[in-house]
Amino acid sequence: MEQERSTHLGSATNRFVDSVQPGDASDEDGASAPRCPDAPQNQPTDGAYRYQHLQVRMLHAILCVRPQALSSCHIGRGRVYFDGMTGVRSYTLETEVKYIKGVGEKVAQLLAKLNLYTLNDLLYHLPRRYEDRTRFRLIRHARPGEAATFSGQLVTVDNLKVRQNMTLTKAYIDDGSGAIELVWYNQPYMKDVLLRVRHRRLVVYGVVKESGWGLQIETPEWEDIGDEEEMDTLLHANRVVPIYPLTEGLGQKRMRQIMYNAIQHAHLLPEVLPRTLRDRLQLMPIHEAIQQVHFPDSMEHIEPARQRLVFEEFFLMQLGIGMQRQQLMQERGIAMQIDAERLMQRLRQLAPFELTNAQKRVIQEIWADMARPHPMNRLLQGDVGSGKTIVAAAAIMAAVDNQYQAAIMAPTEILAEQHYLVLHRLFQPLGITVELLVGRLTPRQRRQARERIATGRGMVAVGTHALIQEGVEFARLGLAIIDEQHRFGVLQRAALRDKGIMPHVLVMTATPIPRTLTLTLYGELDVSILDEMPPGRKPVKTHWKLPEERLKVYAGVRKLVEQGRQAYIICPLIDESDKLQVRAAEQMAEHLRKDVFPDLRVGLLHGRMKPAEKEAVMEAFRAGELDILVSTTVIEVGVDVPNAAVMVVEDADRFGLAQLHQLRGRVGRSEHQSFCVLIANPKSEEGQRRLEILTRTNNGFLIAEEDLRLRGPGEIYGTRQSGMPSFRVADLVKDMRLLEVARQEAFRLLEQDPDLTRPEHQPLREAVMRARHRFAIATVS
Ligand code: ADP
Ligand code: MG
Repeated sequence: MEQERSTHLGSATNRFVDSVQPGDASDEDGASAPRCPDAPQNQPTDGAYRYQHLQVRMLHAILCVRPQALSSCHIGRGRVYFDGMTGVRSYTLETEVKYIKGVGEKVAQLLAKLNLYTLNDLLYHLPRRYEDRTRFRLIRHARPGEAATFSGQLVTVDNLKVRQNMTLTKAYIDDGSGAIELVWYNQPYMKDVLLRVRHRRLVVYGVVKESGWGLQIETPEWEDIGDEEEMDTLLHANRVVPIYPLTEGLGQKRMRQIMYNAIQHAHLLPEVLPRTLRDRLQLMPIHEAIQQVHFPDSMEHIEPARQRLVFEEFFLMQLGIGMQRQQLMQERGIAMQIDAERLMQRLRQLAPFELTNAQKRVIQEIWADMARPHPMNRLLQGDVGSGKTIVAAAAIMAAVDNQYQAAIMAPTEILAEQHYLVLHRLFQPLGITVELLVGRLTPRQRRQARERIATGRGMVAVGTHALIQEGVEFARLGLAIIDEQHRFGVLQRAALRDKGIMPHVLVMTATPIPRTLTLTLYGELDVSILDEMPPGRKPVKTHWKLPEERLKVYAGVRKLVEQGRQAYIICPLIDESDKLQVRAAEQMAEHLRKDVFPDLRVGLLHGRMKPAEKEAVMEAFRAGELDILVSTTVIEVGVDVPNAAVMVVEDADRFGLAQLHQLRGRVGRSEHQSFCVLIANPKSEEGQRRLEILTRTNNGFLIAEEDLRLRGPGEIYGTRQSGMPSFRVADLVKDMRLLEVARQEAFRLLEQDPDLTRPEHQPLREAVMRARHRFAIATVS
């Protein structure tokens, strides 16, 4: 008995001693990775829990511990960490939230609604803002329009029925310097809630407004901070106080208390940043950063703490990307023979125009890549109309010159057809055969095209992403070009793998993305930028018109058509259904044909048309047989009809900024002065801002940055499925500069220790591996 007792005790104590070592958490996979409740890798199951509970009971019986102590015993990693003598329990980062002091089963369910399941999740549940409650604004000094925090005694509360279905709850707080009114609309129960805290001290936060009788705050945030006596000892006043995102049923004070208890375990967080790096960049230790970001010593302590966390997040991401990049660069590729001078001369003979300097530079970059024995992984960025197609053609020419096949993939059939026309015309003199793979081909035509590609007689394949990736066999694929795609993942790249050798890959995007996003979404790629427009282009003039000015707009369109130009008119975006969208387009075309432009040739294009019909309409428009093309957004990307000089967009406020920029990019593709008219009457200020931006600038990068600022990256680039990483702390807009630093540091470190195998980089390596899925970094192979 005596013997057994000491062993039990001994092992439990030892585990505890282990588990408080800061490094301990890192031996556990996924220690800092977010997890979902249905994937409890290391959590004891209910059964295990009960079994262990039983063990504890026995232990209790043996040790005669007070029963209350039992309920506080903690279970984790399949083991009871319980020391009966001291009542100490121990935690890991993976400890479920319900074991955190102040939580329990009920609150744990509420926390789950905020996706908070483990201690680690809590530590990274950051405040959405802070209040400096070391100083409150005196009510006497309140000014209308300002957002401020006051602290005063709640003096009166009452409900007022002002109309049939409108009840106001009014209350006053008084801080000795004055009183201010608080108002709630149609929440009569607020009266009872407030009556319970009458005469107590409240902290109130909100925007001050002028009302008939004085100043008021509508639906303020508020908190009961209790008696004067309690004040000093509380978390909720006399300090900089964190304000957390909440969920229904969980109040701010409760949440703050929980968070305070949680960060008592911040020392469990593994320090992954190497000491030298932290010293050089003056980054504080991780547990200090977490402490300060939750309960800062002063307002000035917040930002450095947050930056430390942001840096770590970016750094891990960039290390992951860097390691992936290293893998890509080690892959075996095709080293092509590139005689740049000869190829350039040939290109000059074929191209109907003189290349811009930017085009020449980028072409050289691409050719240099293709000459290396590793696959090219390059992103070509260039604003709409900057001339990316000819760059693609130059790459294709080099591949074909080496007897390798090339494929170019477009997001739409219309664009694939267009690429086919351009390349076919360009390469005809060289006898290079171009194969088109689109939906409108008959099964026989398609089979034949595939056959020619499979045997190597067809040297260049042009098609939609889907068609090329779904089972086209290439005899010798050496180059794959992806036009106009946001993200081309490693997985898709793998689909192009040809007999174990990766083709060179060039991704072209016309949607300018801010540099931060380039580093995030395409971090593993090399980047070339076409930063020069072909000569003679006049910037598109953009006007924003109200719907009632539509007739004037049409008159303008007519004037340009009379001068020989062509016009696009984009139908309103209807998102209920495809069918409705088609009907709207048809009605609009009908109306324009009959009532507005009876003497002009008006065509219609929409997504539901058969591929052959679509192509016929595009062909007619290209050939100048149509004056006006009424279209849905099917022409949004890539379409190039230089004679088109007017783009009218109906209901422009329903489109995204980047989308409008793309649509506008369909004009201004020649020396003719072009116009873009946005018809809209946006209600919101943001909607107006967006249209104004377009009228102000043609610079796609500025527009993209503004779009990012207005809508956030998730909205624009989709969620994780589309490869957008999810950050816990970092803000891609706010923290751009830090991302650059993190990238430099990450790449510098990888130069010294490519696989992070040095002992001092072990925690870092583990953290990178854990963070990979969060940043949507696919692992190669
Ligand atoms: P992007 O794909 O970058 O939007 P395109 O490759 O479709 O642009 O080119 C836009 C238009 O500009 C096309 O009509 C193309 O023939 C023309 N173009 C491209 N490069 C030049 C150049 N260097 N000089 C004159 N016109 C050019
Ligand atoms: Mg293009």
